[in-house]
Order: sequence, then structure tokens, then C-alpha cells
Amino acid sequence: MAHADTHTVPDDHLMAVYSRAPLAFERGQGARLYTDEGEVYLDCLAGIATTGLGHAHPKVVAALKAQADKLWHVSNIFRIPGQEALAKKLTDATFADVVFFTNSGTEAVECALKTARKYHWARGDAARVDVIGFEGAFHGRSYAAVFAAGNPTYVEGFGPALPGYVSLPFGDMAALDAAVGPTTAAIIVEPVQGEGGARALPEADLTGLRALCDERGVLLIYDEIQCGLGRTGKLFAHEWAKDAAPDIMCVAKALGDGFPVGACLATAKAASGMSVGSHGSTYGGNPLAMAVGLAAFEELSRPETLENVREISGYFNQQLTGLKDRNPDVIAEVRGKGLLIGLQLIPNNRAFMAAARDERLLIAGGGDNCVRLLPSLLFTVAEVREAIEKLERTCERMRQAAAA
Ligand SMILES: *Cc1c(COP(=O)(O)O)cnc(C)c1O
Repeated sequence: MAHADTHTVPDDHLMAVYSRAPLAFERGQGARLYTDEGEVYLDCLAGIATTGLGHAHPKVVAALKAQADKLWHVSNIFRIPGQEALAKKLTDATFADVVFFTNSGTEAVECALKTARKYHWARGDAARVDVIGFEGAFHGRSYAAVFAAGNPTYVEGFGPALPGYVSLPFGDMAALDAAVGPTTAAIIVEPVQGEGGARALPEADLTGLRALCDERGVLLIYDEIQCGLGRTGKLFAHEWAKDAAPDIMCVAKALGDGFPVGACLATAKAASGMSVGSHGSTYGGNPLAMAVGLAAFEELSRPETLENVREISGYFNQQLTGLKDRNPDVIAEVRGKGLLIGLQLIPNNRAFMAAARDERLLIAGGGDNCVRLLPSLLFTVAEVREAIEKLERTCERMRQAAAA
């Protein structure tokens, strides 16, 4: 198949940090993406859990167009009513009292880490600087975020390690108990790991984390950038666990339905060290971003949207289990939570993704030789059936390739 033609603009002038599929799209609608030659793909990755409402959602498009004609940017020198409105919605819906708006997930993580250290410093406990994270985590690409996640490939070659970051085996609660001490500022964790390969932390562990943090005076930070905002069938993934609210939480990805919007949410107590001048952003929370964020959040947080995620993910999961049983030589495990689904594969995950693409199905990669299915939260039964048919044929392609 000659996809090479869609690649007419050479990428010699782009920094070579991505391994891109030889494919470009011209437009999208719901769960479909179209090339300029009119080829149609079923989108089961949603810009990596970002276009949560699908492509070109009419309400979000309308909000963007209306705001585009009025005002894009003024700077945080001024009050921004859209920020006040979206912060009210986010805090009404969660544990949080205050919000800082960013342009990305990484920046939300950066704000969370700074907020946690500053909290202890402002209380006269400047020794509490260490942040404990877990292997397989992904928190973004800034210096602090790569060290908080501790993935060796993302820190290699970037100079001396940032002090104050500790990485523990995923879900090892005994190691965690031993590691938390008088220099610990915070624990950062994704309730469901995304890039790490759709690994959900057991709900009881989240409850345990909360109790441990309370007992030791440590702040609990959730990175819900990928697993939050409806993806697991509750507004936030940690809501599945009892008594497991964090002190600080990072969100982004689906918050702008593809427009760059992120946020760091915190309790008033956790944010008490952050005062005028402690932090800031030029673009963060500008009127255009807030108009889109407000429209997207309203749709994402609707009970009907969350109900759809619970129903569709249950059906998808059941169908995927059947697929795995029919293809035990290709699929080792179905895992994840809600519509953050991982298939752990026996053949190479990159080869599987390419074969799925040949079936006009778009899926994401993941750690642990997984592929991730991260469709829009509005995915339908018919779309699940279509995805399963395409995955069935993808498994067949993998078998033929192995036999050849
Ligand atoms: C995507 C992601 C980030 C980073 O977000 P960016 O917007 O790429 O900076 C951080 N944490 C998790 C869990 C993510 O999935």
C-alpha cells in the first residue's frame, strides 16, 4: 500500500524525536479520521486519550469559533472569567479547592511537584523534598517530570540526575512503606498507568496510599492526565477507590478535547505555600483555552458520557477477551480500566500497530509490549464491533507474517 505518497513534505527539518507512521490526516469526525485521498480510519487512540469527545465535536467547535471572534489572549495580569468558571466546575466536581491552568500535562506535573515542595518549605519543614514515583510511570518530558517517572530511556544523556526523586517498583506497597521518611515530600502516581501499558493500581492500594500519606505527613499527587476525565467511567479514576482522594492532581489531555489545556488541582492546604510570584504561565488558562475547556468539560462530565464509558468498556472488554481466546498466539492479556485498555501481545507491539493500520485501525503503543485502545468516550457498540473485526484480521496478519 502506497502510503508513502501521503508523506509528500519531507520531515528533514523536524527534530528527529518521533517515530512517525507514514500517514497524515486531513480531517476527523467522531471516531473517524480521513486522509486527503479519502481513506477512512477507525480511531481507537483519540490522539492518545486526548480527543475524548471524538474529532470535531460540534459543541466544542462552536465554543472555539465563538471565542475566536472575541478574544484569545490577555495574560494573567488580568482576571480571566473563563478560568474562574472552569476552576469552579473542576473544584465542585472534585476534592480540590484551587486550580492552576497550564498548556500541557507536563506543566501540570511541574506545578504539582513545586506545590508539594513549597508546602513543606512554607511550614518550616524544608527537609521534605523527596518525591517518590513508580516504575513504568509517565509524567511528561520536563526535567522534573522525567526524573519523577524515572524511566531510564528518558533521563539518559541529560546530565546529572535531578536530586530528590526516588523510583520504586510498581505497586510494591512494602517498599513504599519502607521508603517514606522524614525527607519525603510527596508520592506521585497514576491511578492507572497509561504509557506504562494500561496498568491499574489496585483500588485498595490507592486507599492504602492515602492512609500512609496522612500518617506520615506526606502529600499525595495523582497524575490523572491520561486516566482522568471520564476515561475509566468515573470522572476521575481514583474515584473507584474508597477514601483515596489526593492532595494534588494533574489533568490535561481530554480537558481541551485536543486543544492544549492542562490543570493542576489542589486542596487549599496543599496549595498554601504557593503565593504571588511562586509560579506562572504566559498562555496557561487564556480565554481561548478556557472557552474550549469549559465546553469540553461540560460534555465529558455529563452522567450520560460516563455511563457510556462504563457500558461500552464492559462490552469492549468482553469482546476483547473473546478475541484473546481465539488468538492465544497473538494476545497474552487484556487489561486496563474503562476505555484505557491494554492488550499485552506475544508478537512485537509495533508490528501489530502497523498491521492494524493496514486494516485502517489506529491504536497506540505502550510499555510492556502492549498496545493501547483509547477510543473516544462516545464510542458506540457498532464501532466496538468494527474494531474487533479489524483486530481479528490484524491477528490473522500477524500469524501469516510469523509463518512466512
Ligand atoms: C501525556 C501524559 C503526560 C504529559 O502530558 P503532555 O501534555 O504531553 O505534557 C503526563 N502524564 C501522563 C499520565 C500522561 O499520559
